[in-house]
Amino acid sequence: MLAERYPYYLANRPRQPNAALAVTDKYTGETVTHVALADADAVEQAIAAAALAAGPMRRLAPYVRQEVLEHCVRRFHERAEEFALALCIEAGKPLRDARGEVTRLIETFKAAAGEAVRGGGELLNLEVSPRTAGYRGFTQRVPIGPCSFITPFNFPLNLVAHKVAPAIAAGCPFVLKPSDRTPVSALLMAEVLAETALPEGAFSVLPVRLEDIGPFIEDDRLKLLSFTGSEKVGWDLKVRAGRKKVVLELGGNAACVVDRDQGDRLDFVADRIALGAFFQAGQSCISVQRVLVHEELYGALRERLIARARALRPGNPREESTTLGPMIDEPAARRLEGWIAQAVGRGARILTGGGRRGALLDATVLEGVPEDEPLSAEEAFGPVVLLQPFHTFDDALRAVNGGRYGLQAGLFTRDLSRTLKAWDELEVGGVIVGDVPSFRVDTMPYGGVKGSGLGREGVKYAMEDMTEPRLLVLRQE
Ligand code: NAD
Repeated sequence: MLAERYPYYLANRPRQPNAALAVTDKYTGETVTHVALADADAVEQAIAAAALAAGPMRRLAPYVRQEVLEHCVRRFHERAEEFALALCIEAGKPLRDARGEVTRLIETFKAAAGEAVRGGGELLNLEVSPRTAGYRGFTQRVPIGPCSFITPFNFPLNLVAHKVAPAIAAGCPFVLKPSDRTPVSALLMAEVLAETALPEGAFSVLPVRLEDIGPFIEDDRLKLLSFTGSEKVGWDLKVRAGRKKVVLELGGNAACVVDRDQGDRLDFVADRIALGAFFQAGQSCISVQRVLVHEELYGALRERLIARARALRPGNPREESTTLGPMIDEPAARRLEGWIAQAVGRGARILTGGGRRGALLDATVLEGVPEDEPLSAEEAFGPVVLLQPFHTFDDALRAVNGGRYGLQAGLFTRDLSRTLKAWDELEVGGVIVGDVPSFRVDTMPYGGVKGSGLGREGVKYAMEDMTEPRLLVLRQE
């Protein structure tokens, strides 16, 4: 069960002002709890505290940072079921998916605990000509300072962890604004952080209204803005971010290619695509949205995908048997329903699904969707997958590269030269061969190109953005 009310965390401490934000159960639509709401004054205090904590965080010994992260790992294990239930209620995530998200939270903090004690510096060769004979160089990675994090609703624990765990490992204080639709998970994480030896001011987690969030973006005491969310908001914030570094993890309309040599394992391919398309009701930035299938396999894969979509059990996410939960709210489901209707108006065919009850949209498979329709060209962000046959492999690569997004692409093939061609030519942050684009673990660099963003996450890669090389040059007498 959720608590009646959750405090926010300002400079490591819980606070309960009068103002509060209602949080709803995304299946029933009822208000189930409240979280304390920060105002402009709290935002200023959090940034000032983070600026003061920059020195103590920088000096915090790597093994202490590691102990902090290990403490979190232990506590997340102990509280796993409570965290999963909070996710299930505030995000509408089926319990089994919510448990998976807690497992990934633990993986992220474990990876960060490992990185915390690794040095990141370099030994440089400076003897580039007789002029520099006798010079040697070294770098150490120095924390960049206070960071600003803004996160979306769809993975309320993981997307927060992708920023928080590397910040602790790197030695950066941070201020975080979670999604106002799913703030409880981040506050539960803050509760655990407050038990640790992090120096005062090292972290603040503040649900805050958009009219008060300005300093999180514009204040120059913050040295990095790391934003995960929608494309338009992300690029707008970059313009306002002043001198700070900016990392943007934005949307996508991920594609998956099924090559002609996959005929003997179409059941496996269909299982993976169905999972990548419908997991989390398709509300993942790397959800499978477009599937390009070699024309010889098209009919056989289409039948399998239809069967898998029909086998899903939509319903109340709290029931163990539910495998498809609601979208985040009814307007989101209506928006996607409208896109489907518009595509059908231009000749697309619904192969299964298309029905909606409130925020719950059926798992939907379509074919014949024109490439310039929003359903194909924009981010669907719902349980919808589009099928399209291709003739040559080059046609498939061209289709993947069409449009303005570029997060990850999936490729089912056994052909090495096609694998390498795709790796070279696809305009994406990563190519996943033998699986869907939705694959992600925190030891790999993750992020997008084109409209999908700027910079990379994954613990080690996020830490690169959170630190700067500081040079030492030694001249031998
Ligand atoms: P969103 O952009 O509406 O909101 C994201 C966060 O930004 C929220 O905390 C929100 O309150 C805040 N926000 C919104 N407008 C703002 C403004 N003007 N100034 C400051 N903050 C603002 O996104 P969402 O609907 O919560 O999440 C879905 C989006 O996130 C999708 O586009 C999805 O692809 C993307 N996403 C990307 C990744 C990735 O790693 N690339 C991961 C998950 C989600």
